[in-house]
Amino acid sequence: MSNCDACGTHAPLANVTFRQNTGMLVMRQSRTYEGDMCKSCARSYFWKATVHTMFLGWWGTISFILTPIFLISNIANFVKTVGLDGKAQPNALEPPRMVPVSPSAPMSSNESTYTQKPMN
Ligand SMILES: [Zn+2]
Repeated sequence: MSNCDACGTHAPLANVTFRQNTGMLVMRQSRTYEGDMCKSCARSYFWKATVHTMFLGWWGTISFILTPIFLISNIANFVKTVGLDGKAQPNALEPPRMVPVSPSAPMSSNESTYTQKPMN
């Protein structure tokens, strides 16, 4: 866990990129919100960029092609944040590491092994 790029909160983060497009017939303007964000910031930027693009993104030739790509990309990035919540799951987005589990070493440790018994 580290700090959210947007609000600085120490929380589980996802590296997300949300693109916003504004089509202006012969011109277009795009903006990118990118960084390691906590769930609430990612959600807020997702809606900001996606709703803007959904309504204002289409109005141009290039924009008409880019807008669905941006929308899909935003949704794909938003999905990354779904698993983020208050619980610490910093590696939830990475493939699980294969940890060899030895059957001869059970997880329930025998505590008495490490406890020094008082000498009588
Ligand atoms: Zn944040």
